[in-house]
Amino acid sequence: MKREFAVIGLGRFGGSICQELSREGMEVLAIDNDEDKVNEFKNIASHAVIADSTDEASLKELGIKNIDHVIVAIGDNIQASILTTVILTDLGIKKITVKAQNDYHEKILNRIGANTVVHPERDMGKRIAHSIISNNILDYLELSDDHSIVEVKAGKRMVGKSVVELDIRANYGCNVVAIKQGKQINVSPGPTDVLYEGDILIVVGADKDISRFEKHLV
Ligand code: ATP
Ligand code: ATP
Ligand code: CA
Repeated sequence: MKREFAVIGLGRFGGSICQELSREGMEVLAIDNDEDKVNEFKNIASHAVIADSTDEASLKELGIKNIDHVIVAIGDNIQASILTTVILTDLGIKKITVKAQNDYHEKILNRIGANTVVHPERDMGKRIAHSIISNNILDYLELSDDHSIVEVKAGKRMVGKSVVELDIRANYGCNVVAIKQGKQINVSPGPTDVLYEGDILIVVGADKDISRFEKHLV
């Protein structure tokens, strides 16, 4: 089933969302107030139109009300991003995802009714920082301000030991929620499961606990 999306702002971030949604066969309405940007997306999106999203009448004319999910990817012009979001909320759009430029912008967007606020530069920076700290940390996902999920390669100190021998929960307060062994994935690792070289652990916990776990075992 095709779902309808609109992407407002066709910079690197919005452009990439538009391209990926279109590649997945979704109906995408691409909007930018820059004619050159719109021309770039004429052959990619289902529809690409020039419009200023801070103009309520223009958005209405485009039939934005009938769209399930609108992504606001206006970065530098915070005022335009906020105004666009307010208009979309007033029009009753059910799902609004907005890219924030900084923490204040994020706070305002949450207050005015954006359903999801994303902060790609900050989040990608964090993920990359974690993968740089240790070669064994493959990925990192923030769950809240102080909790995360990490994907780690089993370190030398872990190989050949069972989950109970390492006693990760008691020693570090973290939970191993899954162990990947090649193509197989064990989603409910038990105490007697032994870790082999090349295994990948998915670990959830408080940041301070994960950090101790990383330092000692990874
Ligand atoms: P990038 O994703 O490349 O980092 P950015 O965060 O630098 O983008 P901008 O370049 O400021 O963001 O904006 C992205 C796009 O949004 C631009 O193509 C710009 O023309 C468009 N845009 C800005 N204001 C409006 C508006 N009022 N209506 C429609 N499009 C707009
Ligand atoms: P963002 O990650 O916020 O999207 P950006 O891709 O827009 O960043 P810039 O704003 O051009 O990139 O640069 C990021 C930072 O790098 C800025 O703080 C800038 O001052 C700094 N910077 C740019 N050139 C140099 C340089 N030659 N030496 C040191 N710092 C630099
Ligand atoms: Ca930018």
